Amino acid sequence: MPHVTRAGRAAAGAVVLLALGWVVLSAVLVVTGMSRPEPGWSLWPAAIGATATAVLSCLLTAVYGTGPARTFWLRLAAGAGALTVGAICHAARTYAVGHVAPMDAPTAGFYIAAVAGAIVSLLLLPGQPRGWRALVAMYLDVAIVGVAAAIVVSHILWITPLPANSRNLAAGLLGIAVTCACTGILAVIKVGITGAGPVHGPSLWYLTPIGVFAPLTWVIYPHVQRWPHISVTALVLPWLGLLFALAARSQILARPVRARRTRMRGISGVPYAAVAITGAMLLTVTLRTGFLSPGLAGGAVVLMVLVMVRQLAALTDNAVLLDRLDEHAHRDDLTGLPNRRLFGTTLQRSTAPSVVAVCDLDGFSTLNDRLGDEKGDALLRAAADRLREAAGDGAVVARLLGDEFGIMVPGERAGLAADLVQAFRTPLRVEGHDLLVTVTAGVAGGVGGDLLRRAELALKTAQRAGRNRWQEHTPEMDHTARHDADMAAALRRGLERGEFRLFYQPIVELPGGRITGVEALVRWLPADGPMVSPAAFIPVAEHTGLILDLGLWIIETACADAAAWQRRHGDDAPRVNINVSARQLLDPELPGHLAAAMARHGVNPAGITCEITETAVFDGGAALATVRELRDLGVGVALDDFGTGQSSLTLLRTCPVTTLKVDKSFIDELNGTAEQEAIASSLSTIARTMGLRAVAEGVETREQADRLEALGYRYAQGFYFFKPAPATEIDDKIISSTYSPSR
Ligand code: C2E
Ligand code: CA
Ligand code: CA
Repeated sequence: MPHVTRAGRAAAGAVVLLALGWVVLSAVLVVTGMSRPEPGWSLWPAAIGATATAVLSCLLTAVYGTGPARTFWLRLAAGAGALTVGAICHAARTYAVGHVAPMDAPTAGFYIAAVAGAIVSLLLLPGQPRGWRALVAMYLDVAIVGVAAAIVVSHILWITPLPANSRNLAAGLLGIAVTCACTGILAVIKVGITGAGPVHGPSLWYLTPIGVFAPLTWVIYPHVQRWPHISVTALVLPWLGLLFALAARSQILARPVRARRTRMRGISGVPYAAVAITGAMLLTVTLRTGFLSPGLAGGAVVLMVLVMVRQLAALTDNAVLLDRLDEHAHRDDLTGLPNRRLFGTTLQRSTAPSVVAVCDLDGFSTLNDRLGDEKGDALLRAAADRLREAAGDGAVVARLLGDEFGIMVPGERAGLAADLVQAFRTPLRVEGHDLLVTVTAGVAGGVGGDLLRRAELALKTAQRAGRNRWQEHTPEMDHTARHDADMAAALRRGLERGEFRLFYQPIVELPGGRITGVEALVRWLPADGPMVSPAAFIPVAEHTGLILDLGLWIIETACADAAAWQRRHGDDAPRVNINVSARQLLDPELPGHLAAAMARHGVNPAGITCEITETAVFDGGAALATVRELRDLGVGVALDDFGTGQSSLTLLRTCPVTTLKVDKSFIDELNGTAEQEAIASSLSTIARTMGLRAVAEGVETREQADRLEALGYRYAQGFYFFKPAPATEIDDKIISSTYSPSR
């Protein structure tokens, strides 16, 4: 429905006012006619005005409607039009004979056409698509309401005296009354059970009482017969007009109709209402007359049977639904495999020994980013199939989370994890392409629900060592896990209490030893114990996520010290290297934090370098994107422990690096064999040709320093020159700008 304009709102209001006017006019005439004679046609102008207003309401609504809703209101306008013509005929005949007259054949014809129009428009209203179960339930509901209505209507007709003046009239009226009642029932069924479809529900509810009008005239006829100016038809028509106008207003002001399925809930309420009404009626009839007619009793029995069948259908329906919900709660939609919950309960319940493996696809998130979600899903399905195949019959394979799968094999199965890893040696066929994906697995054997946790612990350990491998759970892992948890808690406390310090280790120029940079190295000084090495606590901080908060403190402190040095030493101020862990690189806010810290302390970004490890950016993806952003800030990027990873050289093409920190292991081997020297020498050559600076790490002896200089190294760092020390001690060393071998 298009957006309703202010004019639309105003028109909807005006139509309601107009209809209300006809009701008031008619009511006034009814009352005045009781004390002073009015002509027999006196109520008719208001009645005709009201039916015309009904036509107007429908047309107005059609103007604001679209699609099926618009068609519905146009059909209804046609019905109301027939009613108007019928009313005009009826009025003309009344005027001609000079008193309230029974309807003639044309009048009855138009009235019936009007009712038919209403029925057709209701029937053609598109319902919601539904399955066969819902269809059966709906037909049962329809039958229940139909039987109940038949009982009520037939009873009312039975107890109401027939107008005596004309048999034909009686038959005609009876026909119209029953048809109208049916229309009302149809509307109730349509709206209450199948939903109003594109038509605004509340607006249809305004129209439903109209079905009662014809039977109503039938019932009130005997009571108003004594006033010659009251025609029952003319009496009810203004109310009909008002209901049309209200329905139109409700539809015009309705918000756009979205596909809704809320009406389904009405299904069970309608039969109950039908039974309640019938029951109440049977009770009053029995109490009043002392007996129950065979027709009523028979109808009641039929109704009861229908309701029972309906409730039975609902019960089996619910059972199916519950099964499906259960299935949904325990199955993974993508692969159809059991989910973590079902896998967990299966393990919990099993009392026999079994082997549990947990498999993770290596680098799946990066792969998924590259392939797109659809192919990523297909990859997961292919991986699930491959795992099922490798695990063999009798194994339970579940999708635990994302790209993590659980495999349980009853009994003992040596080499399960190895088989799983091995199974991925052949590429996976994904949408016509061969993809080589490796997995890493953790495995644990024994009895009980703890197996999953132990296998996952083993997986974590395996993943820390690399990819495409497996690891069996050992009791030490539990030990380590507990120790790590304790340390993580202590680290958090330490961060709150300010137990961390930054030490700086100078990076010097060769030859001469002038300090050109410093590397920030964090130290933890717990209040209740000896200093803890970062090698011990950084890994724990990484996999507990605490490194994010600790990292912020490190950046803040390093920037403050860098700013102080820049102010004090100007151009001679050392560059400050900050170690940034893999986990920090996955935080998209890292560049923002660093930029803010540098701005806060007034640090020149050219004086800051972030040290990252190859493994952190090896997969590309989010970490590499963060590195590019860091570079964009104007800070340098150093590849730490260079040469120890698998793809050091490839990485130089994708990662915007400015410095290589050649790992201590290459420096240690200097003065050994010719091959070792060749590696150290070629690393410095590569750096030079690529315009990068090479820093030799872990220089411990004078011989190493001399050899490095001979091999072309311009920068070095190590205990031979300086040990890490607090910022204040560094200050003096910068000033003297010479080195004093520290041992
Ligand atoms: P790294 O980044 O490779 O840092 C160099 C480590 O080698 C430092 O150990 C340093 O003290 C040590 N070292 C320097 N010269 C020599 C030498 O001549 N001989 C020997 N044997 N060692 C030398 P440290 O300070 O214990 O740090 C260990 C590791 O902890 C660092 O390795 C780094 O990976 C991590 N780390 C330290 N501070 C931070 C930090 O602030 N943030 C992050 N994310 N990691 C840090
Ligand atoms: Ca470092
Ligand atoms: Ca290093």
